[in-house]
Amino acid sequence: MVLVSILGMSIVPGTLLYFLPLTARLVFAYIFSFLSALMLFPVAQFITGSVVTQISICLYNRKHKPEERFRSEAKQIAKKMGMDYDKPVYVTDNPRVKSPFVNPLTRKIMLPSSWEKKFHRTEIIASLGHEFGHIKGLRAYAKEVFAAMIATMAFTFVLGLFTIPVILVMAEFAFLMLISSYIMRRNEDRADFLGANATAPEWLYICVSAAEKRIQERRGFNHSSSSICKNQSTDASFG
Ligand SMILES: [Zn+2]
Repeated sequence: MVLVSILGMSIVPGTLLYFLPLTARLVFAYIFSFLSALMLFPVAQFITGSVVTQISICLYNRKHKPEERFRSEAKQIAKKMGMDYDKPVYVTDNPRVKSPFVNPLTRKIMLPSSWEKKFHRTEIIASLGHEFGHIKGLRAYAKEVFAAMIATMAFTFVLGLFTIPVILVMAEFAFLMLISSYIMRRNEDRADFLGANATAPEWLYICVSAAEKRIQERRGFNHSSSSICKNQSTDASFG
């Protein structure tokens, strides 16, 4: 809602600023800067949060080596997806790792040890399938990110012809956040779908109904809203 308001304000009064009376410009500046702060605050929190998490994971792993597990299961899931994978899954006691996550570039999957106590093996396999879905879907995701960048550049270029720099920067940011929340949601759904296909078909039903529910609710991206990620409250960078 905040993002849409910023975009709307940037386009309509934002491009006509010079034609507006001084009071209207002041009211615009006041509301616009308030909305911008509202937009930037959670982003700043997220960035500092994930940086701290990544650093703490690195430091923690040096002292307490993660246990190497699920090598054959991982290999099997990857094989079903048509990938070669010969690495274990790293199980960690680090309390900062609250849910499984993958770094799609190094293809390292981490799993919190608490999950082994909390969940049944099939649920763990299904969540590993989701993480493999992220690895498999990396190319599609990268293409969408590229398309989003082009779209943002085009939008910024056109708007830049008509408005002042400060409005332009905020509008670009709002546009980028809106489009990337859509892409990230698609990325989660794709990982659910690929993972469910390779692990247990019954998960597919849960994934599809969760996706339908989400579309009905039309709410914004939230990694924990992903069906298999439903137990996640991750603050790690890749879920
Ligand atoms: Zn995920």
